[in-house]
Amino acid sequence: MKFSKDIARGREKFAPLPEQLVLKSARVIDPEQGIDDLFDLAIENGVIKSVEKDATISPDFSGEVLDLSGKVITPGWLDLHAHLREPGREDEETIESGALAAANGGFTAVCCMSDTNPAIDTQEIIQYIKDRARGLLVEVLPVAAATKKREGQELTEILDLVGQGAAAISDDPHPILKSEIMRRVLEYSRMIPIPVIVNAEDASMTGKGYLHEGFVSTRLGLGGMPSVAEDLMIGRDLLLSEYTGGLLHISHISTKKAVELIHGAKQRGVKVTADVTPHHLALTDEAVLGFDTNTKVNPPLRSEEDRQALIEGLRKGIIDVIASDHSPHSWEEKASEFIYAPFGVVGLETALSVASTVLCHQAGMDIKELIPKFAVNPYRVLGKTPPAVAAGQPANLTILDPSARWTLSEKNLLSKSHNTPFIGWEMQGKPFGVINKGQMFFSAR
Ligand SMILES: [Zn+2]
Repeated sequence: MKFSKDIARGREKFAPLPEQLVLKSARVIDPEQGIDDLFDLAIENGVIKSVEKDATISPDFSGEVLDLSGKVITPGWLDLHAHLREPGREDEETIESGALAAANGGFTAVCCMSDTNPAIDTQEIIQYIKDRARGLLVEVLPVAAATKKREGQELTEILDLVGQGAAAISDDPHPILKSEIMRRVLEYSRMIPIPVIVNAEDASMTGKGYLHEGFVSTRLGLGGMPSVAEDLMIGRDLLLSEYTGGLLHISHISTKKAVELIHGAKQRGVKVTADVTPHHLALTDEAVLGFDTNTKVNPPLRSEEDRQALIEGLRKGIIDVIASDHSPHSWEEKASEFIYAPFGVVGLETALSVASTVLCHQAGMDIKELIPKFAVNPYRVLGKTPPAVAAGQPANLTILDPSARWTLSEKNLLSKSHNTPFIGWEMQGKPFGVINKGQMFFSAR
């Protein structure tokens, strides 16, 4: 038996799992099974062999043992919303670099959005993505476009795309403006069934905006994006979902009204789920005052009242998921003037730390309340069974260090792009590593 420190060192690539591995003394939290206790996990050939308390390791055990005292093991996490840029903008991110960033952030699966070039609107592109993701530790789940070229005019061959492996349907970051098109997409969604992921935005009200419409936009003299533009579209989509029975997932909600509307719809039995990003939980439009283009996001950073409502929405379970909206952009593009810079920030690698800093250390939530938002609920949104920490299951695990205090620097990021407003932030809580598909990865420190 050897206690291995080497296997826990930061790596820049996925490594094969030792044939036999024991993870000792971790707090195992699996919300689906109602588990929250200290356990030792034995893994053999990529499969969980046992989950035991104080397991005895025989002296002639030839595998590796990793002491995880103080760490938390959960079922592997899924990010519902990431832009991986391949094909089209491989200078900003690729399937492989995005998967590495996902693993570095504690995710063992990631949905890649359809706004590549060409868009994910044919079976060939879905196959291309699957081919590119083959063999990676992180499962990459393609999200297919709802309309051809994401132009909002003509439906894609949704059934064929799902047959090829699409995990959801979305034109994000484009909103689906035509109500009749949205209705048809929701009808497919009910029939298959598969969720429609939307960016709820009435673009006729936001087209000339750069940040949240409010005191800060007035002070800076820049066009604003009113919160009602988001609320209007959420109202419409909830009505259409109620009318059709389609599965609606509203991504990156950012307003207080959105939380109220979704709460009301859920109480009426509408099949709606929602996610929020870590940056909307952490920041308000005040962050834009310095014209940092890494605070330019869509939907925009809103008011403190909105931010507090989002935190409450998560706590009460009105918001189901925390998703990154990982949006890599090149340095040159983000280095331009605020009004010309593209919207979006990278987020896969900071999602856990920003969320746990804001929700656990500032707002007093337990890490246990956070786990379902990353580990279980995203799978439920897609209608998939989440991984489980149980004997006989494939080892698909996320390992966290909830008490780690650290400061984010660029060297912690493995994404090809570094457009984040959180460089220099003091964080509490850190991803430690992931295990999946017979491979492991330990976060860059
Ligand atoms: Zn997006």
